[in-house]
Amino acid sequence: MTGRHKKFLNPEEAVTEIVKDLSSSEPDQVKLFADVYVFLTGGKTWPGRHKESSDFTEQISIWYQTDRNQKKVFYNWHRFRELLAGAFLKAKLGTTDIAKIYSRVMWVNSYSGTNERGEDGIWVETEMEKFKCVQCGNCCLNLNDAICTTADREDLIRWEKEGRWDILDWVSFLLEDDRTLADLWISPRTGEEVTRCPWLRKLPKKDKYKCRIHNTKPAHCKKYPKSKKHALTTGCKGF
Ligand code: SF4
Ligand code: SF4
Repeated sequence: MTGRHKKFLNPEEAVTEIVKDLSSSEPDQVKLFADVYVFLTGGKTWPGRHKESSDFTEQISIWYQTDRNQKKVFYNWHRFRELLAGAFLKAKLGTTDIAKIYSRVMWVNSYSGTNERGEDGIWVETEMEKFKCVQCGNCCLNLNDAICTTADREDLIRWEKEGRWDILDWVSFLLEDDRTLADLWISPRTGEEVTRCPWLRKLPKKDKYKCRIHNTKPAHCKKYPKSKKHALTTGCKGF
């Protein structure tokens, strides 16, 4: 039997993970985020709706009141998410509170502790030992960032060393903000971004898929799913 998978995060790393999650989360987590906001800043929140907006995410909103003598303020989902990320960065939280919020936001157990060097932080039971890819193909077929992504420097060096010119043929180099980006996957025939990963194959007579470059696939693909929550919120069947 495999043991429980755990990782240690210092307070800064833990807060960064939480803020990243908050910044990319969907409006269905509005109740959770309202609770976290109140935990950080005090006051009261109520979920609300902006009936006049035609954009669904703009409709999902929060009323906030610092105390009963203050006026209620109405924030739409985008604005509220920004406020929450900002409140998090400003708050001076101890590791017990960080662990409490991490557990709620990331859907795993975590607790305050020290690492082998005696540094303070939080331990996270990631539950990644339960993950087993069932080759459903969802991450390659349905997640846009599977085909609209970039290769790492290490990916490029490895493909060169391995003589994988067939893979490098599908990489296009772009200059963005003085950095060169290795854009994936660009058809060498049309010069256009593909609509399906060129390395994905369906297994004959099975509802399963395989990656034809599994052993040397880009780091972006190797890192999927980054967490249990990432898997559960993106339709991965591996949990
Ligand atoms: S390279 Fe492999 S793992 Fe990555 S999207 Fe394509 S088929 Fe999927
Ligand atoms: S979505 Fe999850 S289970 Fe399905 S192929 Fe991707 S990693 Fe495997």
